[in-house]
Amino acid sequence: MTGPNRLRLDGGALVDNWRALARMSGTAACGAAVKADGYGLGAREVVQRLAGAGCRDFFVATWAEAAALADFGVSFSVLHGVRDDDMTFAAQQFARPVLNTAAQVRRWREAGVGACDVMVDTGMNRLGVSPEEIGNGLLDGLEVETLMSHLACADEASPVNERQRLAMTALAGRTNARRLSLANSAGIALGKDYAFDLTRPGLALYGGVPCDALAGVIRPVVTVEAEVLQRRRVPAGQQVGYNLTWTAARDSDVVIVNLGYADGYKRAFSNAGAAYAGDRALPVIGRVSMDLTALDATSVDVGEGDWIAFDADLPHASAASRVSQYELLTGLGRRFDRVWR
Ligand SMILES: *Cc1c(COP(=O)(O)O)cnc(C)c1O
Repeated sequence: MTGPNRLRLDGGALVDNWRALARMSGTAACGAAVKADGYGLGAREVVQRLAGAGCRDFFVATWAEAAALADFGVSFSVLHGVRDDDMTFAAQQFARPVLNTAAQVRRWREAGVGACDVMVDTGMNRLGVSPEEIGNGLLDGLEVETLMSHLACADEASPVNERQRLAMTALAGRTNARRLSLANSAGIALGKDYAFDLTRPGLALYGGVPCDALAGVIRPVVTVEAEVLQRRRVPAGQQVGYNLTWTAARDSDVVIVNLGYADGYKRAFSNAGAAYAGDRALPVIGRVSMDLTALDATSVDVGEGDWIAFDADLPHASAASRVSQYELLTGLGRRFDRVWR
């Protein structure tokens, strides 16, 4: 059974985006962040396609996310490390923990399981052990595959980027880590100096454009589509939707589509979003409801049962809604059929 709304997912664009980011990463390997179910697209479909293209390093947040992908036979790193409750899973070694704290390092060392990754904080003050802890021997004797850090401001021209890069450079050779890794999507665009041995793009794989340098490089991957449920005439002066926030300036034709904020089509698109029938634009009018959205279809020939495509340009949709590109993607709901081509 197919539902009344769907995501059209362009597997060719996904792979092209990864290849473009891999080229920009120079000699470094290019991985992929697939946490939060592949940023809402569906992690299994994403990993299958990127592994097929040659990607070997995948990043998830939790052990449950890793376990659901373990059969692909590629490397998974679990960004949140290991809690006591994770150790049974972790000991099966279908993924490596990214150890973030001295307590996690101790836990992993005592279990004596095998290779791990380590996060070091170089200025974001979010996750990671400190360079000082590393200097004091915290990681001595540990089998570290990747020593990584995360950029706080990669999507802006900030002096913090260079400071974090230098902090990473200063750690080279200070541990027995096989690889160093710093750059996310926007970090790749900062230049090859930021790539080290392994890059970790997420957003840009999925069509997000976090900085101008990636505009024109990254192609859209996700298009939200929804079916028209009803077409109606709204005479001039009448109003539409909850709290009647839109008033017809002229006799108007309005279509109501099967899509709402419970699908992840944010309420912030109320009176602001854009949809398309072919190349004809259909502005979102009134409040986005839980399961329904109204569009102005005046003089556009669409009606009950026709499919409408919503704005697939993430920077544009983000500007219209003031919702970050990350939230627009990861909020995509479970009700969509996910249709890959
Ligand atoms: C999510 C995440 C990434 C990917 O970041 P994007 O900005 O989506 O490219 C990379 N590294 C870490 C540690 C992350 O948490």
